[in-house]
Amino acid sequence: MAPPRVYKVDAVVLKHTRLGETDRVLTLFTPHLGKMRAVAKGVAKPTSRMAGHLQPLTQTSLLVARGRTLDVITQAQTLDSFRLLREELWRTSAGLYLAELVDRFTEEHSESRPLYDLVARALRWLCVAPAADLPLRSFEIQMLEHLGYRPELYHCLGCMEELEPRAHRFSPQDGGLRCARCIGAEGGRPVSLNAQKVLRLLQRDDRSTIARLRLDPSLAAELERLLRQYLTYLLERDLKSTAFLDLVRRQEAAGGTPAGATPATG
Ligand SMILES: [Zn+2]
Repeated sequence: MAPPRVYKVDAVVLKHTRLGETDRVLTLFTPHLGKMRAVAKGVAKPTSRMAGHLQPLTQTSLLVARGRTLDVITQAQTLDSFRLLREELWRTSAGLYLAELVDRFTEEHSESRPLYDLVARALRWLCVAPAADLPLRSFEIQMLEHLGYRPELYHCLGCMEELEPRAHRFSPQDGGLRCARCIGAEGGRPVSLNAQKVLRLLQRDDRSTIARLRLDPSLAAELERLLRQYLTYLLERDLKSTAFLDLVRRQEAAGGTPAGATPATG
């Protein structure tokens, strides 16, 4: 029997790609179809009734018609607009970074309900968090867990001994920590004991403790560099949106909003 011509799907909109003047190809992340692409016709027209329901970083309920090459979105209804994400540039840039991570780390059409729930949770958290660090680091760690790249934080990957509570080194090649005796010629990145504690909390997803956590700037920066290096190693190339994330942060630290800076959503 032929599959139904039209189907319903919930999705988080990850990005828009131009298709002619007013059409866009949307990259969507869904619970049962994983990442997928679909055409939104006329969505760049000012009169489009669907446009508001299909912005990047919107969680939306879609009716989709099967097409010969790409499926076509025929109806869209916002489930959660994550409105607060759009009200401050640092929240927007953090959300777009998260969307890029999902896009880069997932394959099309591989079911992933847990990862979908994680994306929605991280976007909700980013709406209300006082800073982006914990929601983003938590998402990175939990995404790695779901994708089978769980970093080893308890045992040395050289000798397999349980790690003593002190600074160790992180090897992206191994995907975890190594003790001083076992660190190879490449050296790895030093990881403070406090950073290891935060990583373990995030890995255990101990939410009540995480909710009380405050990261000082140097610890936040250490964790960000560590995870970015590991993620970049896994992707074997740089993430595009980190440049925007860094720009916004530099400008906010300098006390201003970047003039004319707009998130790269197209
Ligand atoms: Zn060792």
